[in-house]
Amino acid sequence: MPRHILASLHFNENVHRDTQLSKEGEKYFKVTYPKFKLGYVKDIKKLLFTLSKAEMLEVFNRYSSKAPAPLSAQFEDRVDKQSAVKAYEENRKKRSTVLLFPTSAEQDTLQQRSSVAAEAVTGPRTATVRKCSKCKRPGHNRRNCTVSL
Ligand SMILES: [Zn+2]
Repeated sequence: MPRHILASLHFNENVHRDTQLSKEGEKYFKVTYPKFKLGYVKDIKKLLFTLSKAEMLEVFNRYSSKAPAPLSAQFEDRVDKQSAVKAYEENRKKRSTVLLFPTSAEQDTLQQRSSVAAEAVTGPRTATVRKCSKCKRPGHNRRNCTVSL
């Protein structure tokens, strides 16, 4: 028995949600005729625990021939797993030897050149000296400024 069928039956069996209420506070009811009320689960469990391995295999073979092909079978350019793994590993090896563009040496040169260009516009970079925002003198800040304006 396919596992997903058992799973959904199990789920249905265990759902005990509160009944939804309408705006007027009345309960909504919907009459259903669930199949498991007919002893479906019990029957499956009985089969599961009483069938011999040979009988199970026979049932399996009977139904698995009717099972549709997996969706991935729709890909036209499928290769067998062995070839796919081989191609993947070769690709990985190739990728690890691919050089960066531009090379790291070229990147350093480019970076230096751009900072030189920036300096030409803004002037040489000087170390910023913190100054008091109140009196504009260095060495202290506004909070402990002793200069009275
Ligand atoms: Zn100050």
